[in-house]
Amino acid sequence: MKTIYRKVDDNNIDISVLEEARDILREGNLVAFPTETVYGLGANALDEHAAAKIYESKGRPSDNPLIVHVCSEEQVRRVVRNIPDNAKKLMDRFWPGPLTIIFDKADIVPFGTTGGLHTVAVRMPDNQIALKLMEISDMVIAAPSANTSGRPSPTTAMHVKDDLDGKISMIIDGGEVGIGIESTIIDVTSEIPMILRPGYITKHMLEEVVGQVEIDSAITGPMKEGVKPKAPGMKYKHYAPKADFTIYEGESTKVSEKINARAAECIKQGYRVGVIASDETVKNYQFGDVVSIGSRKDELSISKKLYKVLREFDDKNVDYILGENFESDELGYAIMNRMLKAAGYQVEKV
Ligand code: AMP
Ligand code: MG
Repeated sequence: MKTIYRKVDDNNIDISVLEEARDILREGNLVAFPTETVYGLGANALDEHAAAKIYESKGRPSDNPLIVHVCSEEQVRRVVRNIPDNAKKLMDRFWPGPLTIIFDKADIVPFGTTGGLHTVAVRMPDNQIALKLMEISDMVIAAPSANTSGRPSPTTAMHVKDDLDGKISMIIDGGEVGIGIESTIIDVTSEIPMILRPGYITKHMLEEVVGQVEIDSAITGPMKEGVKPKAPGMKYKHYAPKADFTIYEGESTKVSEKINARAAECIKQGYRVGVIASDETVKNYQFGDVVSIGSRKDELSISKKLYKVLREFDDKNVDYILGENFESDELGYAIMNRMLKAAGYQVEKV
């Protein structure tokens, strides 16, 4: 199939492009579009056959449910059984924004969208192109990240093209995303709300609105045999670059020394090496392909670049990635969650 590719300026949206996308969605086909977190691969969330195409084109396991995107509270009411008080408070505070909320699903939502679950994940993205698309199509849109399953999530339309060109009907290019890692997921169907995936909206920010919040134990380390994460997707080795990725943890100068030594050793053996540094430390490295992922004083600069850097190392056929460790509170917690998963939890303390 030929994939239609269209650029849209989110300050001056060309409605005719969104109308083209609407018609494709109404025919049950797929359109990739920007959100503030990562690019999404959209289909009509209430059409089981359309949802099935998402799984097929991404190579996504069918028990990994999709997030349903909405543009209004009225659209939320179409897809959920009820809106608990805590959910309402979170919606009022954080939507549109990078927070996905788990609800009991309405009958109208097919199990093909929820991976067989009786709950549904819902989010209102903070992106004018995405919101306008849902509004003019009068449609709730199921949209996981628009990457091939197992690859880093796409933060530009080019990343989507690299993975899905020829497999989907349309890509809307709305420029580089603002956050760069997937939304925080919170389950409010239990008495104490639980974070199922960390993201830009932190535990701290959530607790200010709904009081005590727990973190699903599946997030905090490698999956243990027999333990089922509440967000089915968390069990898959996501965000994986092709290279062998190790994170070095410890005092900054020691980490740089260790990475330099290891990089030199790998290069001597004929391997390609990528080094993930920060603005503050990049000058400490002498060997391999050294990339600053952003400033330690501005975590958003890091989340924005993380997947891009991992993809670039893939493109360069790097054999080993040696990465610094980042602070693990607030947004840094979500960044480290993605980095650790990408590294298969391979951490060396120095
Ligand atoms: P992605 O859109 O690719 O970022 O993946 C969506 C994530 O949302 C996956 O990790 C899913 O496991 C999670 N998710 C979607 N629906 C539900 C649900 N009903 N309950 C728990 N987690 C969900
Ligand atoms: Mg994904």
